[in-house]
Amino acid sequence: MRSWVELPFKKVILYIPEDMEHVQGDDIVRYLNGYIPLPVELRQDIFHEPPIRTLSKELAECRVREIDRREFHEPLPIEVEIERKMLKGKRFSGILYDGHRVARVLREYIDRYDIHHIVVTDRLIGTMERYDARYHARTVVCSIPSIISTEGIVQGPAKPREYYTGTEDDMGFSPMEPEDPRMTDAIKTYALQSVVWRMTGQPFCRTKECALHNSHWQEELVRYQIKGELCDAHRELFQRFQNFIYSKEDDCS
Ligand SMILES: [Zn+2]
Repeated sequence: MRSWVELPFKKVILYIPEDMEHVQGDDIVRYLNGYIPLPVELRQDIFHEPPIRTLSKELAECRVREIDRREFHEPLPIEVEIERKMLKGKRFSGILYDGHRVARVLREYIDRYDIHHIVVTDRLIGTMERYDARYHARTVVCSIPSIISTEGIVQGPAKPREYYTGTEDDMGFSPMEPEDPRMTDAIKTYALQSVVWRMTGQPFCRTKECALHNSHWQEELVRYQIKGELCDAHRELFQRFQNFIYSKEDDCS
């Protein structure tokens, strides 16, 4: 009896806002294509696709109100207005959004089945941590669609004590900054994590030198993760994935 594994998606769409000039979308596409022999399409900001009027209210509803409570309510008119301005390109800082709620909003506007969507945003995204029941800023929310937050890459992984005591020179590395030239390399690894999540349900790797490591510290992120290299086990995983796709293509020919 013949059997086969159904791949969970046939294409990846990567959304990068056009005003993120420090992020090289083509580089990220090439990196993903090095591991997954599936089409990867680059698109502009996903937040431009739905009607602004609807989306501004939906996003305002995603605001985190209390750091230790996952509760949503009708937004104030001023909050909806702020979202409307943000969707037109104005920047406001200090707003934290519930990552799963934002994904739920965006899910209504995408084909969720055969395509893996990855949304890059500078909005700060958080989810609740199980161990302390509080919101934490996230670098990536693996969901449909997956969301990568550049602000989360800056604020999520912790900085060492020296950063706050004015002795940064002793750190021996530079933490990520908002318009960091290394941001493209960081996004590559989080994009790959979301792909692995969609393939296996397990996005993260325990090996700190692996691009799939969920770095809790800025030092791990900039020293190892953004190099984009995989551990042996994950290299093997992608090799099996590629072999499977090519064998399916042979079957079809
Ligand atoms: Zn690994």
